[in-house]
Amino acid sequence: MLIIYSLIILLTFSAFSIIMLSNYKNSQVRNTEIRLFQTANIVADTYKGNRDEMIFTRMMVRSYGMQANARILVVDSNREVLIDNYNDYIGNKIDNIEIRNSLEGKSSSNLYKLENKEVLQLSVPVILNEFGEDKIIGAILISYDMALIKDNVAQLQKDMIKIGSIGLLMSLLLTIFASHNLTKPLRDLTIGVEKISEGELGYIVESKTKDEVGKLIDTFNNMSSTLSRIEKNRRNYINSISHELKTPLTSIKVLIESLSLGNRDVDTYKEYLQDIHEETERMERLVNYLMKSLKLEESVLNVREEDLSQILKEIVKLIIPYADRNQVCINFTCAENIKVKCDKDKVKEMVFNLLDNSIKYKDPSKEKSLVYISLEKRNSVALLTVEDNGVGIDEKKLDDIFNRGFRVLEGQSHGDSKVEGYGIGLAVVKSIIDKHGWNISVKSTLNEGSIFKIQIPIG
Ligand code: ADP
Repeated sequence: MLIIYSLIILLTFSAFSIIMLSNYKNSQVRNTEIRLFQTANIVADTYKGNRDEMIFTRMMVRSYGMQANARILVVDSNREVLIDNYNDYIGNKIDNIEIRNSLEGKSSSNLYKLENKEVLQLSVPVILNEFGEDKIIGAILISYDMALIKDNVAQLQKDMIKIGSIGLLMSLLLTIFASHNLTKPLRDLTIGVEKISEGELGYIVESKTKDEVGKLIDTFNNMSSTLSRIEKNRRNYINSISHELKTPLTSIKVLIESLSLGNRDVDTYKEYLQDIHEETERMERLVNYLMKSLKLEESVLNVREEDLSQILKEIVKLIIPYADRNQVCINFTCAENIKVKCDKDKVKEMVFNLLDNSIKYKDPSKEKSLVYISLEKRNSVALLTVEDNGVGIDEKKLDDIFNRGFRVLEGQSHGDSKVEGYGIGLAVVKSIIDKHGWNISVKSTLNEGSIFKIQIPIG
């Protein structure tokens, strides 16, 4: 990754440098050309006005040549050199394309490469106006060694390489720093995933950013906490079932041991056998309940259009004797003729579990234990509410109550006797609701009571 970044930076900078240097060189050549054309025209004017005073003209040309740092030749119309600021070509005939162009009245310039030298050569015509007519009486040729421009470009190139190297180094350092920082949360997350796969459920990765990676870490942390909670519930579940099974088994064992001591009368035998029978029934109930709850996960709904009002009436009728036995008063209000698509048996089981809990978790310290069950129609939704004034549930534990095996053990005792349960009832309720695609919400306050609300689409 780092190599790719470096290459990208290097290539970008090289392309930028090449374009910069070429632009710089072109602009230098253009400026020099303009400046030399100006000098050539000044020389042409000086020569034109002082043809009779050649000594003065030569002096002037020498001075212009020094200023421009170039060779200046003045040739006549026969291409013979009249003035050369370096004196080498005086009297010689010069024949090159620039002179030929200028003797035809045109200015021209060319860049020549000679061995390792570059020379800019340009010429302008010397035009005299006599009696209203233009006459070409010669040409001015200037040769300029481009070494100076070349030096400037080379210097700029060196500077750019220096700046580029420093820039490249700094950007590499920044890239290393940034990529290290960027990948740190991902590395932490990888460690987290490894921990989870090693069984360390509940492992939390520290999240410092609010970007996409931060969100991913938050999601991971939620998943980790949920897994840890599920695992805790599973243990509790197994624990409570083992406990529930162990109690009747121990009783049966003790009863059988007592019986085997012999010398008991028939009535004692009958009484002991009755006790053994009750304990066996208790175990059978538990095993049946477990099997039923496990089967529910696999079961397929038998959905039909049903009259929900009717279903509720049937359950309430069934549960009232049980509520009476537990001194709980059931209050039932029901909108008529609410038709919904559902599995009747499953809905009955769901409502039964909710009502059973409302009765089971009544608050013995209250003067009157009340359970309200109501069915109302709200637009296209039927709202089923089961409310009680029982012991209530701690708000912090509400998130867990639908998990299989979860039980809120504190504050739920009828006097001294513990309320029987395996933490399955609400898991079954939730499973039935999810299978129907409905929605359940719960509000509860400790020592005040609980409200379970189920929204069911009508029709
Ligand atoms: P359980 O077999 O323990 O009743 P549930 O799954 O039916 O299992 O309920 C889970 C836990 O939620 C219960 O142990 C109880 O603490 C709490 N709970 C459920 N319904 C009520 C209620 N109406 N009032 C108070 N607590 C409740």
